Amino acid sequence: MEISLRNQVAVVTGASSGIGSGIAKSLASAGAAVIVNHSSERSLDEAQAVLKEITDAGGNGITYQCDVSREDQVIKMFQDTVSQFGTVDILINNAGIQKDSKFTEMTLDQWNAVIGVNLTGQFLCAREAIKEFLRRGIDPSRSIACGKIIHISSVHEIIPWAGHANYAASKGAVRMLMQTLAQEYGADKIRVNSICPGAIQTPINKDAWSTQEALSSLLSLIPYNRIGQPQDIGNLAAFLASDLADYITGTSIFVDGAMTTFESFSTGG
Ligand code: NAD
Repeated sequence: MEISLRNQVAVVTGASSGIGSGIAKSLASAGAAVIVNHSSERSLDEAQAVLKEITDAGGNGITYQCDVSREDQVIKMFQDTVSQFGTVDILINNAGIQKDSKFTEMTLDQWNAVIGVNLTGQFLCAREAIKEFLRRGIDPSRSIACGKIIHISSVHEIIPWAGHANYAASKGAVRMLMQTLAQEYGADKIRVNSICPGAIQTPINKDAWSTQEALSSLLSLIPYNRIGQPQDIGNLAAFLASDLADYITGTSIFVDGAMTTFESFSTGG
């Protein structure tokens, strides 16, 4: 059994860092051409380094600067991708941020920034991807599905998170966005799923693993007793995007070392 994404084109948002970079490399190693999206000029070097790893390993792709919370930029990213690669087969809605605050001190700017990237960004990219999937239709030389969307959600789509109301609200909403799209476009053979990471070692949560004390405290929440790596998410993303997962749609898959079994109850609560 082989995971193959040959002849397919994947847009991976926020692919210059962390989980997005892991997913971009996994999809490329399965044969997809990958659009390594990054948000600004500042992240260009990182995006180019990810693309270099892909091409050094024999893969194909480009870097593409686009702020996913900006409608004009998202529309242009999809138009340019279709011009250069012919179509889009896979969207990985990964870009995400945190702006943490005690709720009563949370500013509207903090709220809007997180909702803008984590939810509106996923809406804008999914809308452009689905339009392109429907325009192209099913092409069995690429995939037996018309298109695949994978939302990168979080364990916080089901675990409430004090001090992070904007982030938890954005991820809870992503779950309903994902299920609604799977329902609305199932008959068109468009598959839509979410991956819900637990604690993955990336810059977004550096405070939680960069000291031994913080790491020990984090591990006390994870029965499997290790922090996750971007590759753990990349492996599942490649499988989910492939035809091997053709009957999987409308669901959230947790990749969390059993964090969602609530370790604190392991001794009876
Ligand atoms: P990260 O900070 O390493 O990566 C986030 C990426 O998103 C970066 O490449 C960043 O440049 C990009 N980004 C931010 N704003 C953007 C914008 N407006 N337009 C385009 N790109 C933008 O963090 P990560 O941990 O790799 O996070 C990736 C995703 O995984 C996020 O959606 C995050 O919520 C989710 N997640 C992470 C963890 C974890 O433990 N690391 C757990 C659960 C969910």
